[in-house]
Amino acid sequence: MTTGQSGHDHSLAIRQEIQRFESVHPSIYAIYDLIELVPDAHIAKQIREHVVAIEDSFVNSHEWTLARDVPELHLGIIGSSDSGKSALVHRYLTGSFMHEESPEGGRFKKEIFINDQSYLLLIRDEGGIPEAQFSAWIDALLLVFSLENEESFSIVCNFYNRMCSFRNMSEVPKILVGVQDSINDSNPRVIKDVRPRKLACDLRCPYYETCAIYGLNVERVFQDVCQKIIQNISMKNFSCDVCQHTTENDVKFTVPTVTKNIQLHNKETETTNSLKVNISEKDEDCRSIHNSSMPNDSSLLNDNFHNMQNQHGELRSSILTPTTIRKFRRKSNIFTPSKKEKYMGEMGVGREIPVKQGYLFKRSSKSLKEWKKKYVTLLEDGRLTYHSSLHDYMNDTNGKEILLQYVTVKVPGKTPKGSKSYNAQDSFEFSIISLENKTWHFEANNAEERDSWITAIEQQILSSLQNSDGDKKNETDAFKMHCIKNKVSGNDACVDCGAPNPDWASLNLGVLMCIECSGIHRNLGSHISKVRSLDLDDWSAGHLSVMLALGNDIANSIWEYCLNGKQKPVSDSSREEKEQWIRWKYEDKLFLPPINPNISLGKLLIDSVCRGDMRAFTLCLARCNYEDINISVSTEDLRTPLHLACATGNLAMAQLLIWHKANPQNLDHEGRTCMSYVRALERTLDNSSDSMEMQKLLEVLEQASVSGMDDVDTSQY
Ligand SMILES: [Zn+2]
Repeated sequence: MTTGQSGHDHSLAIRQEIQRFESVHPSIYAIYDLIELVPDAHIAKQIREHVVAIEDSFVNSHEWTLARDVPELHLGIIGSSDSGKSALVHRYLTGSFMHEESPEGGRFKKEIFINDQSYLLLIRDEGGIPEAQFSAWIDALLLVFSLENEESFSIVCNFYNRMCSFRNMSEVPKILVGVQDSINDSNPRVIKDVRPRKLACDLRCPYYETCAIYGLNVERVFQDVCQKIIQNISMKNFSCDVCQHTTENDVKFTVPTVTKNIQLHNKETETTNSLKVNISEKDEDCRSIHNSSMPNDSSLLNDNFHNMQNQHGELRSSILTPTTIRKFRRKSNIFTPSKKEKYMGEMGVGREIPVKQGYLFKRSSKSLKEWKKKYVTLLEDGRLTYHSSLHDYMNDTNGKEILLQYVTVKVPGKTPKGSKSYNAQDSFEFSIISLENKTWHFEANNAEERDSWITAIEQQILSSLQNSDGDKKNETDAFKMHCIKNKVSGNDACVDCGAPNPDWASLNLGVLMCIECSGIHRNLGSHISKVRSLDLDDWSAGHLSVMLALGNDIANSIWEYCLNGKQKPVSDSSREEKEQWIRWKYEDKLFLPPINPNISLGKLLIDSVCRGDMRAFTLCLARCNYEDINISVSTEDLRTPLHLACATGNLAMAQLLIWHKANPQNLDHEGRTCMSYVRALERTLDNSSDSMEMQKLLEVLEQASVSGMDDVDTSQY
């Protein structure tokens, strides 16, 4: 089940199944439309019944039924019609926000990946009161309420209590979700955090606050709840080979595979007593909820698929037009979209709800051998707090906090960058390191827990960076900056002395360094190194692209190619030692690799641009003079390296060439400028982010043209 091969098979099977559903959808609904034109009501009814029967057998097709090992996860969602649950689901499925709540709820399907395994997630957004069949169907439950709506909070509690009368709900994984969507100045938060936290505590489940407008925590809630389903199943040690279990009644509601549905549907009459109870209630449920406009309500399971199919097709179109008319939707018999009753009794905002919380061990800052248990919380505002106990946390006393905006998270003995998973060490430690090199060591109980903390913390670091930028359009830039610090190879240590977590950069060298080395770089002059602070300075798209394209490892593979017996300084080395090294390295260029003396530098440069080879390009730049940089391909072909970089849309190379005094005004043999190459390329792009990149490239060129040359302060590079 967990091998790559079977994962691949599942994924394929799931996609094919989704496609199959979609393929029939337009024809079926065209027929339903035509049926409405049939004047004879009796004949219309008969045709409808036949179409439904065809649809049934299609839904339960042989191929799909035979795909017995496609794992399926059943997620139920309850809440009042104004809880914001439909917007939550919509956001998760489409990535967009839907203003209008759907009182009828809906059924959806989506392929998801958990631990590299593909699953078919069936989402049932329950409009109205949850009934027995729904309660039995689910593998996990989201309980949703709106933080500005008192009534929605009590309704979700009532719904849950009702479900407890049908099923032992303690065995069902669940997540409590408080929705922030409707909170604004005139509609303040009324549910103080202590109450949902208490409820979550009682339910023994996590509590999240989400915002579908901005997508806050939305993905996380669904990912977490699916993870819980899988954990729950593996805890129960159920084999996924369901073929052996389909006749065992107790398995039916817990093993997440499609087979159980098909079996349940096909073998209704064979099922045992307790199941019959469910089915009969189910049918009743079906009748009570569906209004008379439903073409057929003979089987809810059938109806489930019918609706899923309907919803799925609708989902596709709703990406473009979220207000598609909803056909055959269930109508809630109790809820109508009502004006929200403002509950003015409880005003104000309580303490922030953690996005993650739990016990971790923390190494004592005084005695490095001592580890103490702490109650740790990760907050949406970019803080990580820790308390000696849950009691202290609840009372908000004796807590300490770490501001996450300027920290990095490290795992000792981490596998090389770029590898997917962290190396499973004997311990499950991770550390948080601040700008000032203050380090907090934590240890989780297992690798999974550690990784989930790291992921959550990194997410908060990123969002606090974004928040600090404020502007929405800077989000990509913030993300790029995050990547420069954390993802670009070698950037976790100063390029010259190896000090950890460097936060100064040399723009044109494309490297990160510590503050001490940055001072030395500055003394070299900006013709050698253009020093910027990662956190304090503004970063243009051109700057960012260079930093992303290079990085300490690539740069040092050039600048420290052969050390000739010289000793590289370490972070503890004296400033003099560091300065000597830096001057040898960048001023005297002592450690550069040899180049082929038979080929001109200009030709090598042109070749590296054409191949997009950043390393060879860097080596050329390290040695090129003004003539080399502005060389043309041949006497007939007057394109310069900058023309070529523009023709291939390489922003980083173009920016570097400009810093090295490439002239953007140069014309090729047909009289074209670099900009006309960029515009020509841009016209061929259909991807908006690529076009955006080209806009940035044009800006870089225009700026260079206007200012003559960037930083013209020396003639020699
Ligand atoms: Zn350094």
